[in-house]
Amino acid sequence: MLVIMDLNATESEIKKVEERIKGFGYQAHFIPGRDRLTIGVTGNRGVEERLYLESLPGVLQVIQITKPYKLASRETHQENSVVQVDNVQFGDGNVVMIAGPCAVESMEQTLRIADAVASRGAQMLRGGAYKPRTSPYSFQGLGEKGLEILTKAREKTGLPFVTEVQDTETISVVAHYADMLQVGMRNMQNFTLLKAIGKAGKPVLMKRGMSATLEETLMSAEYLMVNGCRDVVICERGVRTFGNHARNTLDISVVPALKQVSHLPIIIDPSHSSGKHYSVIPHALAGLGAGADGLIVDVHDRPEEALCDGHQALLPDEFSQLMDVSKGVCAAMGKEIGTKKKNK
Ligand code: PEP
Ligand code: MN
Repeated sequence: MLVIMDLNATESEIKKVEERIKGFGYQAHFIPGRDRLTIGVTGNRGVEERLYLESLPGVLQVIQITKPYKLASRETHQENSVVQVDNVQFGDGNVVMIAGPCAVESMEQTLRIADAVASRGAQMLRGGAYKPRTSPYSFQGLGEKGLEILTKAREKTGLPFVTEVQDTETISVVAHYADMLQVGMRNMQNFTLLKAIGKAGKPVLMKRGMSATLEETLMSAEYLMVNGCRDVVICERGVRTFGNHARNTLDISVVPALKQVSHLPIIIDPSHSSGKHYSVIPHALAGLGAGADGLIVDVHDRPEEALCDGHQALLPDEFSQLMDVSKGVCAAMGKEIGTKKKNK
């Protein structure tokens, strides 16, 4: 339910509404709008409370939200949300480029690749320190050492970084180093983890599960949001279908569908969708053409030596090529790569 406050509602009227909401045992979420305050109410069940809240001074209107996800719904927040990560903005109408290795393998490898992507125009760095691997015998990541390496790469390049949190035990250590926390595809419905990450105080990049519907994806975003994280970016990285010509099937149809019902930004991971380096650029362009707010791309300068996902990594020069052709698609859509300067 949404409580829309009057333009001239006073501080004390707002406080009173908040107290009443909490008095019912519900949660109040402040959603400042361009000119008036809206208070999102979650946990509510009855209609009496709605009528009661509507009668309070300073309240203009109370609206029932029809979708099962509330805070993620466009009914709650009509304008697109802009998610700020350091100096990078997702959802401001431009396109964000995140690039880097699938996994942090060593200091040298990460610094080389970070330099390569930074000098070619990436705005954020990616790299897994805790890796979810299908096989227990595969490289599992460097853990905290990997986070220290990413921190060094940020110092050298100025690029903020996103990295995955795999479990509740490591949230605090990852949040200590990272600019943005990644929820991996396999964990999108790990509700215990989502609740805890929501409370970590960092922006989150949440990947869509391999068989998750749009509604399930937004319900998972809702777990993050209702637990305190407003800065959620969704990532489409391909879903599992009968097709086996690519690692996954990139579902670009989810981009306009999500934008219709949610205010959250959405980016595309063309590396994990395609699984093949030669398909990465076509997937990326299709995603941007569908209206995605950015890309997250695997880049490796020695893919044949990569400990994880070398087959889907672009070489640095291929990343330059991606940047060039993306500029063309962005221009056709009235967008640019990079943060809109005037929006903060
Ligand atoms: C990754 O981005 O490194 C990753 C493991 O992705 P996903 O969770 O989408 O498979
Ligand atoms: Mn990977």
